[in-house]
Amino acid sequence: MQLKALLFDVDGTLADTEDAHRIAFNTAFAEFGHDWHWDRDLYTRLLAVTGGQARIRFFLEGAGMEMLDNETVADMHKCKTKHYVAALQEGRVPLRPGVEELISDAREEGLILAIATTTTPVNVQTLLENTLGAESLDWFKVIGAGDCVDNLKPAPDVYLWVLDRLQLAAGECLALEDSANGLKAATAANVQTVVTSCPYTAHHDFAGALAVFDKFDGKVNVDSLKKLHNTL
Ligand SMILES: [Mg+2]
Repeated sequence: MQLKALLFDVDGTLADTEDAHRIAFNTAFAEFGHDWHWDRDLYTRLLAVTGGQARIRFFLEGAGMEMLDNETVADMHKCKTKHYVAALQEGRVPLRPGVEELISDAREEGLILAIATTTTPVNVQTLLENTLGAESLDWFKVIGAGDCVDNLKPAPDVYLWVLDRLQLAAGECLALEDSANGLKAATAANVQTVVTSCPYTAHHDFAGALAVFDKFDGKVNVDSLKKLHNTL
């Protein structure tokens, strides 16, 4: 089957966003009067859970703290998103080296581009606007984010949602992911996956990936992706 589309994860894949997320969580906690601090080691463990609200609950459970009601968690997460979006708008989160070239080459070659993430939609929009420019939102034929599905990654829902809207078979697409949860989500939707790990995910188990790299630059380009897809 011919490769027709690339489906991109966002956090950790398009950009090393995790530190900006982590710092935004800490700022929100302080604003809510808590002295909780998520350092890199703790955040690496908390990334096992996708979705910001679920991550806050997972942290409270793990630390043996009193569970907050859903409304408070939702408000805290809204506050975190506000700070995260501000970081994106200030240009503090660049794309990973090689990503812009890959996207540009893929467009020139006529490949369809789509986003398959379960992060908050405003996070995706703001990242794209502040890195590739506002027009880049139109480069992606379908943008599937956390508001499109009930079950976040590692559930396959967002990939199935994107495939349905693209009207493509899983075999005509490749997913680009950086984490074990993302890999599980894509492969559960039968989409073969190329992993480019980031510092927060380098220790993950990537069994089942079509290929695993530690960066895009010089390794992941349209030619290498087409060759990998051809081996299927
Ligand atoms: Mg990711």
